[in-house]
Amino acid sequence: MGESRHTKVLIIGSGPAGYTAGVYASRAMLEPILVQGIEPGGQLTTTTEVENWPGHSEIQGPDLMINMETHAKAMGCEVIGDIITELDTSKRPFVAKGDSGTEYTADAVILATGARAKWLGLESEEAFKGFGVSACATCDGFFYRGEEIVVIGGGNTAVEEALFLTNFASKVTLIHRRDELRSEKILEARLLKNPKIEPLWFHELEEVVGENNPKGVTAVRAKNVKTGEITEIPCKGVFVAIGHAPATELVKDTLELHHGGYVKVKPGTTETSVPGIFAAGDLTDHKYRQAVTSAGMGCMAALDAERFIAEQE
Ligand code: FAD
Ligand code: NAP
Repeated sequence: MGESRHTKVLIIGSGPAGYTAGVYASRAMLEPILVQGIEPGGQLTTTTEVENWPGHSEIQGPDLMINMETHAKAMGCEVIGDIITELDTSKRPFVAKGDSGTEYTADAVILATGARAKWLGLESEEAFKGFGVSACATCDGFFYRGEEIVVIGGGNTAVEEALFLTNFASKVTLIHRRDELRSEKILEARLLKNPKIEPLWFHELEEVVGENNPKGVTAVRAKNVKTGEITEIPCKGVFVAIGHAPATELVKDTLELHHGGYVKVKPGTTETSVPGIFAAGDLTDHKYRQAVTSAGMGCMAALDAERFIAEQE
């Protein structure tokens, strides 16, 4: 049996929502504990330039997240490197179990577990994950210096990843199932004028082709969604960038969720279906999914938790 820790506010997650909640809850003298999870700093640690965080015309994602962690700690938030594996929301104080063996009890919980990369679900994608198939250009782009790469998707992530990968690759093919991108116009314009990037419209990934000795990708087979015709594109790397799904494993059976799995909150608040449990950031937001909106919801969650605790007292 590990250690037991009690806190007024337990914050689960260390993205913009979690750290902002940490700043506000600390300044409300709630002495919060923040558990970072498997990805300290959250999704922005997997990107490079962030150009839409107010106050910085450009900042590296990992630097921004280190700044937020430092800020939360400076205000008094205790930041712990652990992963919550279970959360009992049936009684108060709420009980969360940490992978470390520590049990956390809390008067209020702020869920800020964000979202994780989605995969296509192909057998060949699974077979070559970590051997040419990736969902993080910042993490793995360097391995493909001078090689040909494909990126799947048509949103901000896919376009940013394709642009970033041109720093390494000799050629990047962006495979998208439509002929219209979902990304911001400024990113689309950069993509379309980059000589190293070739979009392949109206295509879907059919199969990742590779060899086993040594294990690696040699090509992809892409299917034309209109004609069914298959095109084989030689490449060494495949970056899947088709969006993110909310990380609701801890609460999928205990809190009300929207279709698509996002945690439902009372409009205009961060209150979930269980009083005392608050949700902020990408976990609850199928629409905006930005760092700044997540941070805003982190602030709201801390203020909502503060009011909830005051009412209980
Ligand atoms: P996340 O950042 O997803 O963080 C979730 C946190 O929860 C992580 O720290 C994780 O470790 C933790 N966690 C999960 N499960 C557990 C658990 N069981 N126990 C403990 N902790 C747990 N937005 C912008 O505004 N500008 C950009 O330029 C931009 N670029 C992006 C580039 C990429 C490649 C991606 C993927 C996203 C980008 N976004 C950008 C979107 C932005 O990153 C997200 O909107 C934002 O990070 C969401 O913040 P969050 O706090 O809700 O969660
Ligand atoms: P997204 O906006 O949901 O886009 C996902 C893309 O993948 C779409 O183009 C979609 O095609 C495609 N797709 C989805 N499922 C597919 C499948 N099974 N097969 C083939 N293609 C598939 O996801 P995202 O790009 O990861 O962005 C997530 C959020 O983070 C967004 O809110 C975004 O604005 C934000 N973000 C912001 C920035 C920034 O501000 N610079 C950077 C990155 C991310 P369709 O278009 O046909 O649906």
